[in-house]
Amino acid sequence: MTERPRYSIVAPCYNEEGVLYELHKRISAVMDSLGEPWELVLVNDGSHDRTPEIMRELHQRDPRVKIVDFARNFGHQIAVTAGLDFARGDAVVIIDADLQDPPQVILDMVQKWKEGYEVVYAVRTHRKGESWFKKFTASLFYRLIYRITDVKIPLDTGDFRLMDRRVVDVLRQMRERHRFIRGMTSWVGFRQTGVYYVREERFAGQTHYPFRKMLKFALDAITGFSYLPLQLATYLGFAIAALSAVAAVVVIFTRLFMGAAPFYGQATTLVCVLFIGGVQLITLGIIGEYLGRIYDEVKGRPLYILREAIGFEETQAPSVGQTAQ
Ligand code: UDP
Ligand code: MG
Repeated sequence: MTERPRYSIVAPCYNEEGVLYELHKRISAVMDSLGEPWELVLVNDGSHDRTPEIMRELHQRDPRVKIVDFARNFGHQIAVTAGLDFARGDAVVIIDADLQDPPQVILDMVQKWKEGYEVVYAVRTHRKGESWFKKFTASLFYRLIYRITDVKIPLDTGDFRLMDRRVVDVLRQMRERHRFIRGMTSWVGFRQTGVYYVREERFAGQTHYPFRKMLKFALDAITGFSYLPLQLATYLGFAIAALSAVAAVVVIFTRLFMGAAPFYGQATTLVCVLFIGGVQLITLGIIGEYLGRIYDEVKGRPLYILREAIGFEETQAPSVGQTAQ
């Protein structure tokens, strides 16, 4: 029987065969320096490479490495969620497996935690080795989210953060399917603070967040925390109605007193009709984004399906094949 860990490090892994040994090495070095028991929860998010084999090898060598193995790819945010479900530490740290989040920052986080903060998020002061497009869209995204959502999510923070057991227990009860974990952690409240760090280059491999996934992630974040896009239809409706009312007055006035119509021809009509058609389709699409998500939530399927969970004690975790609702 292993000691109950004081710290849990949760790392979601999707095709990360090139980084796992190094991740284990660096995490061990940092965590051992704290002198308290810890565990490293590796979540295999349906990788197609040697990630699961390497995880098992690490577990053989070091039983503090524990494995949550998914039946398929469920996505980064769900993988993190599973890690939080299984982690048993008094403090839980979420970290990317690719070492873009430097493990030594955990020491600063632990320091803040010991000062009494319940959430310590890491703020990126600088990002290395990422394309200007990624940096630009990311920066735009964080600022947009900040403006239009009701929770104030600190700018330029990812999921790299430490959370107290109390916060993790609250998060574990929030079973929404379309998850934006950094928003959810801001939403729960508690005493929160930040530490600053430079985001490193990926240790090996490539990003698994192509533009398509980034867009979906952004939509999940916006729909999860804001009604503004839905209200847009109302605002646009009022604006266009007001515009047409003015136009109607102008038309009547010119017809009556000047004897001529100021708008000529089919082209004008066509442009107006197409414009309204476009606006209507866009607002329908926005409603669709919310509706699809509502449908997903209503179906109430498990958030993830496990193939196996290795290294956890019987009572510690949800059983294989089953998952918390
Ligand atoms: N990841 C995952 N499932 C996915 C995509 C990514 O578990 O479907 C993990 C990935 O292994 C990494 C972390 O999420 O540990 C962040 O992904 P990535 O480095 O590709 O994104 P980026 O840092 O480029 O935004
Ligand atoms: Mg990365």
